[in-house]
Amino acid sequence: MSTESDIGHTHNPRAGAQRDRADARGTATRLSVPLRAAIALSLLLGALAALPRPLDAQTPLPPTPAATPGPGDPPKVEIVATPVPVPRPTAVPSGDPLVRVVGVGETLSSLAAQSGFSISDLAKRNLLTRSNALLTGQRVRLPARISPRIRLHRVAPGETVTSLAAGYDISPYQLRQANNLPCATCLVVNQLLRIPLPASAPATDSNLPQPFDRVDVIPAQPAPGDIVVVRVLPSQPLDTVIGTFADHPLRFVRRGDYWEALSGVSALTDAGVYGVSVRAAATSGAAAEVSGRIQVVQSGYGSENITIDYRLAPLLDPQVNAEERFEIDTLVSQFTPNAYYSGTFRLPVVSKITSYFGARRSFNDGLLRTYHSGTDMLAPVGTPVHVAAAGRVAAVTTLKVRGQVVVIDHGRGIFTLYCHLSRVDVKQGQIVNAGDVIALSGNTGRSEGPHLHWELAVGGVTVDPLPYTETPLP
Ligand SMILES: [Zn+2]
Repeated sequence: MSTESDIGHTHNPRAGAQRDRADARGTATRLSVPLRAAIALSLLLGALAALPRPLDAQTPLPPTPAATPGPGDPPKVEIVATPVPVPRPTAVPSGDPLVRVVGVGETLSSLAAQSGFSISDLAKRNLLTRSNALLTGQRVRLPARISPRIRLHRVAPGETVTSLAAGYDISPYQLRQANNLPCATCLVVNQLLRIPLPASAPATDSNLPQPFDRVDVIPAQPAPGDIVVVRVLPSQPLDTVIGTFADHPLRFVRRGDYWEALSGVSALTDAGVYGVSVRAAATSGAAAEVSGRIQVVQSGYGSENITIDYRLAPLLDPQVNAEERFEIDTLVSQFTPNAYYSGTFRLPVVSKITSYFGARRSFNDGLLRTYHSGTDMLAPVGTPVHVAAAGRVAAVTTLKVRGQVVVIDHGRGIFTLYCHLSRVDVKQGQIVNAGDVIALSGNTGRSEGPHLHWELAVGGVTVDPLPYTETPLP
């Protein structure tokens, strides 16, 4: 009964290219799409544009065995396009002391005020046309190196050597010496002064308001499906840090010298510029908010046409999918501050990957249009399912689309889901170690053949799990 055609997910030998998506840089787009595929793709994209939300969702269901297609059925998944490699800029500093990688909250005016050069100087040198529209991660070349022990100050009317020295907590003599001032009264309005910082002041090259030293978004130009790390380096001890990224709340935890929040970019996010903002309050009482603009680059997800047996067709109802999505979103939006996991995640089943995250999916000639919210692995019913990393069982449930599901909370807002299971061996609240067998794979829910559907959610956003089987999670 179980023949190759029973498997609802066709092998896509070229889909591995998608795993290299994050590294693809400067690679020419090389995609030979048959005419038929191009038409299908354009129809699909048109319909996707009208979709307000991801629709790969779920609801509680009676545990009925999934219908199994006959051995003569045609293959259920037709790959009509393969992922397109996308050039990805990086935020790695060049090592050039004159090049500044723009952090959240830094603007041309704040860089100008700090460096002593004018906004138009900086704009001209960097070929910028819109003087204050810097993107986080962008490189700005400064005319001169900024010393962390020198502040620049432009003299305003009424200021004197004495008043300035008192304001910066240094002696008038130090101020005169640092600027070769022949007398205590020979200041000119608009004159640029070098202010040596008192020895007690922390050396910093920050141009952000207290209590911030620097705020970075990593990667600076994420793609849909990526995890995003927002890292706050404070200039003094903090009490609280909160924020948002692309309208998703950021939840920060302290990690040594810095505070960090994890979020994700939804697979359906359009390329474009999205806002990030962070507000911090120090134990000293200093508080400020900084904001920046993050460029989300285009993804290179392919698309699939899937035909579902008529007995499962009710599960293509967008309402059913939206309800299940809501239930999953609620589960994965919980937050446990400590991390159970460490390092890379392991594949729950080591076998052939039959469908990748992010693929645009059209079911039964467009009855439902959605995207693939996880990674599919070929697995005969009863295959042991290993948990990807240490965590706590957040839920064991049965959903209409995903079938029997185990949800694992790995801490810091990271969750993995194991779907279409035939048997579950853990209970809610149980602590599991990396690699423990938590269930047996199956074919429950909207599944057209035995396989494991594996999902990863970070900060309430479903992202691509595969890169983190090779790269440690932040
Ligand atoms: Zn799947």
